[in-house]
Amino acid sequence: MDELQIKNLTVKYKNRQSILGKEQTIHAVNNLSLDIKKGEIIAIAGESGCGKSTLAKAIMLLETANSGEIIFEGQNILQMQKAKLKEFRKKVQMIFQNPYASLNPKMKIFDTLKEPLKINTNLTDEEIRQKVVETACKVGLDKDCLSLYPHEFSGGQRQRIAIARALILNPEFILADEPVSALDVSIQAQIINLLKDLKDDYDLTFLFISHDLSVIKYLSDRVAIMYLGEIVELGKTDEIFFTPEHPYTKALLSSVPQITKADKIILEGDLPSPSDLPQGCKFHTRCPYCMPICREKMPDETRITDTHYVKCFLAKSMI
Ligand code: SF4
Repeated sequence: MDELQIKNLTVKYKNRQSILGKEQTIHAVNNLSLDIKKGEIIAIAGESGCGKSTLAKAIMLLETANSGEIIFEGQNILQMQKAKLKEFRKKVQMIFQNPYASLNPKMKIFDTLKEPLKINTNLTDEEIRQKVVETACKVGLDKDCLSLYPHEFSGGQRQRIAIARALILNPEFILADEPVSALDVSIQAQIINLLKDLKDDYDLTFLFISHDLSVIKYLSDRVAIMYLGEIVELGKTDEIFFTPEHPYTKALLSSVPQITKADKIILEGDLPSPSDLPQGCKFHTRCPYCMPICREKMPDETRITDTHYVKCFLAKSMI
């Protein structure tokens, strides 16, 4: 069963800081469709600037979508009335990359965790206190630390607090945008394992955004590879890591030598500017297999298996 469906989503915005004072249109998400199943961890991987974070913000309504639909529990959230949106915001929460920036430095941790309950529930003060303590313990925080401020914690502990705040309203769906990339390597594994445990305990669905393929391989059920605002390959985690089809996926995997035995492609050049998208296949300016047709036409989805598709003219359907 699908928890969230994204249909033909497009997000573009004006960049007012462009050189020569000219406005540029940034095409961050381009006609993207994705179905997210209830209870799964789906990861989105791609280089910085490929549109991953814009996609997450569009789902959270922090970025305005220009067209398309985002369906949650049968309703398009882009057209929801205010009252329904309040329900949506309770059920869908986000964990950000930088735990320090996402916490109010002037609020004690108890107050940070209490605030969403005060605003969104009718719980008594005692029930709120119990819920805050219970959630803090769930993410591995000592209840004695609830009277402290964010600056009194380490990076890993701050991310635990941010996770507790995301969980406090018992959400169904969590968007985690690079949740461990700002943490020391030694702490990353703790937070990843915590997210995995919480997913089972709270029966959560996760959209996990990361550029770290090792973390994605460990954590996710399915992986979507994103390039210049489009998903170019989608499959189960094993399909993406052991039988990748798209040259861009192979290039990403090549950057982590021990992770796959697939053909190695070393990527040259930078990601083209999303203000000046290439015609045809958007990867053609960097693809070692580029053919004349790739410069003219966008490849459609080719189904490799029931669960695996790729957008590349080289791919041959196996079903
Ligand atoms: Fe490369 Fe062409 Fe495939 Fe695009 S469609 S990835 S340019 S071979």
